[in-house]
Amino acid sequence: MKLLLHACCGPCSLEPTRILRAAGHDLTLYYANSNIAPAEEYAHRLGTLRTWAGGEGLPVVEGPYDPAAWETTAGRVGEAALAAADGDVLRVATHPALREARCRACYRLRFEEAARVASERRFDAVGTTLSVSPYQFTEVIREELERAAAAAGVRALFEDYRPFYDEATRRSRATGMYRQNFCGCRFSEAEAAAERAERKRARAAEREAEAAAHADERAAQEAARAAKRAERAAYAEKQARKRAALRALREQERGER
Ligand code: SF4
Repeated sequence: MKLLLHACCGPCSLEPTRILRAAGHDLTLYYANSNIAPAEEYAHRLGTLRTWAGGEGLPVVEGPYDPAAWETTAGRVGEAALAAADGDVLRVATHPALREARCRACYRLRFEEAARVASERRFDAVGTTLSVSPYQFTEVIREELERAAAAAGVRALFEDYRPFYDEATRRSRATGMYRQNFCGCRFSEAEAAAERAERKRARAAEREAEAAAHADERAAQEAARAAKRAERAAYAEKQARKRAALRALREQERGER
């Protein structure tokens, strides 16, 4: 089947393309990701994808990069969710329900674009690599891909690639492929940073609690070491006194001879 595969980045494309090619599909990768910010990050991910795909003989087509369109759709939904969380980025990061509507709007924008191109260029179906990530909303991806495909009059080829995520991670690391540490939008970058900071804070608190729990034990060990040192010093002093007395005795004996 002639398939237009929406691709979000290089690492996420590794396993879906392997599986789809093994199934005999004729693939073209479509990079339609107006969600990615800033523009340098967008270009970096595209460059990574192109370099890898070139080596694999896979064509890559770049879609329009329109961050303003993303801001008026998903961006607005994201702002509303952040306001509902009183601006608490970490709360949004740790509560999927606060992110789902934003991600749905984000998938919608990208899949509508991919489905439109698939229809115009007479592909048999449209698919996406997004469903390899366990951090995405898999069911929402399926719904939005099918919705966009139906509206454009093409077939949706959805697959849940999450079982292959570990292998994709391994392969991308092994080849030194650029691996971003946030999903793509400005919200996800702030959320990923907040989660990292929270993990760091939690680790420091854990270390502090452990240190406090062992403080008495360490004080007792230190007191035992100090007592041992004092005992050794007293013994050394006693020996020195003995040696001095012996020397004095010998000198006295020599003087009497
Ligand atoms: S977290 Fe990812 S999928 Fe969700 S809105 Fe941001 S870029 Fe889109």
